[in-house]
Amino acid sequence: MTVVSPPPGLCARCVSGRRIDSAKGSIFWRCAEHDRDPSWPKYPRLPVLRCSRFVAGEVPAGPAQE
Ligand code: SF4
Repeated sequence: MTVVSPPPGLCARCVSGRRIDSAKGSIFWRCAEHDRDPSWPKYPRLPVLRCSRFVAGEVPAGPAQE
């Protein structure tokens, strides 16, 4: 079964973006900013079109499993 996930927007090219592929085929984006500041959302609502903490950069290679 194909699961359609919303596009990530800025998270896909932000240094804090972490792609999570679930066992059910869904794709989530976790924000590593949450690790530094727990008041910041761990899973941003997608697509993220504007973000005050966006920093362009390389997203770590390979999807993580959760
Ligand atoms: S800082 Fe903003 S743009 Fe970057 S991963 Fe987190 S929510 Fe997405």
